[in-house]
Amino acid sequence: MVASRSALSRGEIIAALQELLGPEQVETDAQELREASVDRFKKYTSVHGIFDGPIPAAIVYARSTADVAAVLAFANENVVNVVPRTGRTATEGGLETIVEDTIVLDGSRMDAIVEIDPVDMMVTAQCGVPLQVLEDTLRAQGLTTGHSPQSKPLAQMGGLVATRSIGQFSTLYGGIEDMVVGLEAVLPGGEVVRIKNVPRRAAGPDIRHILIGNEGALAVITEVTVKVFTYQPENNRFLGYLVDSLPAGVAGLREVIVAGYRPSVARAYSEEDAAQHFSHFADGKAVVVVVAEGPAGIAEATAAGVESIFTDIPHEKVDSALIKSWFDNLNWGQDKIDAEKREMLERSHLGYTTEVSIDWSGVAELFESVMRRARTEFPRAADLTMLGAHSSHSYQTGTNLYFVYDYNITCAPREEITEYHEPLNAIVVEEALRLGGSMVHHHGIGKYRTPWTREEHGSAFVLLQTLKDGLDPRGIMNRGTIFPVEESEAVTA
Ligand SMILES: Cc1cc2nc3c(=O)[nH]c(=O)nc-3n(C[C@H](O)[C@H](O)[C@H](O)COP(=O)(O)OP(=O)(O)OC[C@H]3O[C@@H](n4cnc5c(N)ncnc54)[C@H](O)[C@@H]3O)c2cc1C
Repeated sequence: MVASRSALSRGEIIAALQELLGPEQVETDAQELREASVDRFKKYTSVHGIFDGPIPAAIVYARSTADVAAVLAFANENVVNVVPRTGRTATEGGLETIVEDTIVLDGSRMDAIVEIDPVDMMVTAQCGVPLQVLEDTLRAQGLTTGHSPQSKPLAQMGGLVATRSIGQFSTLYGGIEDMVVGLEAVLPGGEVVRIKNVPRRAAGPDIRHILIGNEGALAVITEVTVKVFTYQPENNRFLGYLVDSLPAGVAGLREVIVAGYRPSVARAYSEEDAAQHFSHFADGKAVVVVVAEGPAGIAEATAAGVESIFTDIPHEKVDSALIKSWFDNLNWGQDKIDAEKREMLERSHLGYTTEVSIDWSGVAELFESVMRRARTEFPRAADLTMLGAHSSHSYQTGTNLYFVYDYNITCAPREEITEYHEPLNAIVVEEALRLGGSMVHHHGIGKYRTPWTREEHGSAFVLLQTLKDGLDPRGIMNRGTIFPVEESEAVTA
């Protein structure tokens, strides 16, 4: 934990926030505060009711950009740490309040869809609009954002942009960074900035990218404008193949991509990962899943192109109805999260993931070296109940590997993170970096991968640090996220 640098006491911070926004927008209930001190999803200790880190001073529910600006100006003046949040699906510790007396700034009540523009093909939404609500509204009008992360039922627009999220249809539509047209944000001093909506420009560096992916460590995103596309699911074509291995499946996907096809979904699962996703048909094999979409002629031609490429790759075809029904049930709502939490508690069993990216030429070595190290070097390898990976987002130059590891927890709940998640996460990150890949493909750095931020960026880290120093000179934004906290600052509880 990190000591507060504010001259104000906890009580004075709460009183000032109540004065600023009114008491009804300031939450101080003890249990709410405890739960706000961690990511709510995979935290094994919190499932056991253990909240060891600093508990925030208050959760502030902003209702407008002006509210956000007022809270940030106050926090900046008084050097109070701020952790912004929206949908609360973070998995990498981005929501952990490691500084004493933090303000959690919640944007989920800023939930208006501001404008749908079907001529210029964009939609503007406040940060607290859940993607599911936005998609349902757009689809009713024959439109879609094309964004479909598994967290769609819960994640909200501010967090989705702040983490550089990516969805299942990314091979066609791209990640959120390809979708954002413009946005509004509030800087730590309270200044409101608006990056205007234009189709493209060459007016210096692309400043959208300073804010996209900032994880609440530079600014609070209050409103975003994203592209919309014609929604035409009636043309979708679903393809599936059983293949010999993950590298064989990825090699097939590479052929598809470099030949110029852009299916919306292009995935390859290792035998182990396939066994949990496709137990009813995988039969011990690796699995490739492809969806072609768009206007009928393009969907048809894409599917035909993929089929022709896979004739050269040893495979068995999977009934497309099975692939379609798998997609229909892929996303994670609160029900699945609750079920996983129950399993953590009742069976002392947890599944975690680490996703990285790598050039095509490094895929096989990355996969094999992580699997070997996890099985031979991880001291608690005997507790692993599943270890595998899939590639789910592909590009002209490479792909991602999403490692999945499930384990029985045989230590005390407090030690789960250091005994299991940290060493397994480290193996994946170290191997990705060793092979020249990125240590994080889409979940963000949060607080769990900050030990490697400098190594990730190498000589370019100075650019990132300059942004932090320039935009947040008092260091009030989400301490410990993206930028590591110096050891000298850390104090024990
Ligand atoms: C079951 C599950 C499935 C997932 N699937 C995917 C997936 O398919 N693809 C993917 O990319 N990710 C996925 N994620 C990770 C996560 O959902 C995404 O990163 C999502 O973008 C986070 O959005 P959120 O609204 O929940 O943000 P939060 O969890 O509230 O916050 C995430 C981070 O962004 C910061 N933040 C939040 N709001 C703002 C704001 N308005 N301004 C500035 N900073 C802000 C927070 O401080 C935090 O660091 C998944 C997570 C879960 C639990």
